[in-house]
Amino acid sequence: MADTGALNPSEHFWFGQMVRKGFVPTPEQSDNLVWLCEQVMEQIRSIYSQPPEIVKGWDPEDELHREGLACDFRLSGVPLVQLSYELVMSTMPIARAYIEPDGMQWHIHVEARR
Ligand SMILES: [Zn+2]
Repeated sequence: MADTGALNPSEHFWFGQMVRKGFVPTPEQSDNLVWLCEQVMEQIRSIYSQPPEIVKGWDPEDELHREGLACDFRLSGVPLVQLSYELVMSTMPIARAYIEPDGMQWHIHVEARR
């Protein structure tokens, strides 16, 4: 049996960063997460020339993050309003992108459409 804990979803995003600690995604959720990382998160990393600070990737206890198609993140130096607008207007397969509160900070919640 493969050790899914060792499989990273894409070149620049790693399992421990994108998957909630203590949980293992189903093969379908894992496949979605790989797709999200390749089609959206790697593109964002490339377009903005920096690694996004990941707040939350796949999370089985969060309805919006359960299928592996959503990610919460921040980019340094990019205003969130500008970022959410640019993501929605981009050619990436993004269904929704909006600003969410995160304790005393804020982040972008992005959802991909597969
Ligand atoms: Zn979220």
